[in-house]
Amino acid sequence: MNWDDLRGHRDQIEMLRRSIARGRQAHAYLFAGMAGIGKSRFARIFAQSLFCENHADTELMACDECSPCRQMNAGSHPDFFAIGCPEGKNEIPVSVFNGDKERRGQEGLIHDISLRPMAGSRRIAIIDDANRMNEEGANAMLKTLEEPPPNSMLILIAENLDALLPTIRSRCQLVRFSSLSANDVSDLLLETEIASTAEEATAAAAMSEGSLHIAAQLLNPALRTLRLKLYDALSTSDLRPIDVANSMTSGIDELGGDTNEHRRNAGWLIRFAQEFYRQVALRLSGDSVPEGPGTEFVARFTALLTAKGAKGIEIAMELFDRCVLAENHISWNVGPAKTMELLFDDLARTARTRLKSAR
Ligand SMILES: [Zn+2]
Repeated sequence: MNWDDLRGHRDQIEMLRRSIARGRQAHAYLFAGMAGIGKSRFARIFAQSLFCENHADTELMACDECSPCRQMNAGSHPDFFAIGCPEGKNEIPVSVFNGDKERRGQEGLIHDISLRPMAGSRRIAIIDDANRMNEEGANAMLKTLEEPPPNSMLILIAENLDALLPTIRSRCQLVRFSSLSANDVSDLLLETEIASTAEEATAAAAMSEGSLHIAAQLLNPALRTLRLKLYDALSTSDLRPIDVANSMTSGIDELGGDTNEHRRNAGWLIRFAQEFYRQVALRLSGDSVPEGPGTEFVARFTALLTAKGAKGIEIAMELFDRCVLAENHISWNVGPAKTMELLFDDLARTARTRLKSAR
């Protein structure tokens, strides 16, 4: 891989290139930014560029042809280590840093990074999900960060800086990453075949906040089905609040996961509802809206509001605002079931009174 295989983040590449050219290479970096924007890929290309034999460190480039580059691409470079939170776990087990109980200190990342480089002039380790180190793991790492082994480099990657010990943060050079452009996300969705059509990719990218990870979640088939069900319910003049709330709540349960996941998915449904009313308002004001999931339901509700004349947009915006309130409920830790109940009760009442009242 080389920088051509990475979307965005050109400023960060330049910044690192300049600091290395000035001889200010850090022993530890902390790459921070939301999930799904390419931080991990960036860290790997960064490491490969430092290992590459055909480019000086100051160029910070990878040729993809020399032996270290090939080893990096094959995942077999003897001086490169990468760890992260195992699938399904909430934290990185401390044995990943220190080795198992029987072999404590004789294996694990801290041991590996302390050894002399085998091939080149340095050893590089990536700690993905660094915000998921538990206290024991963080304390073990702290020692290494305080007294970094010679010729070693650590790259910590974290979504949420608040979850990191201040003592860890202060020992790393912070590099902040911004989200990707909607265009980049859309292209990536097509390249990785997560999305099968350009329309699908554009629609998911627009709601992704610049994260491929979020876009991929949005394209999860079960969530899409639930979204269409929601749009169908919202498009009628007599929304049945209890039925819809129940159907959404059981849909959230069926999507699986833990309490956090339930809340996240409830959050998605609320944002889908917002998107629904936003599209209705746009159509009413004569703007063109790209085709996306559930367009037919948006059109159906737009027709209902068109009959209300100038008041139509006002009604759509009022319904949109109700969804914003529900978003607050989720962030205030109100449970998904209760949030859905309150939201649809509100939406039904508003729609009923406003649609029945005279123009
Ligand atoms: Zn190379």
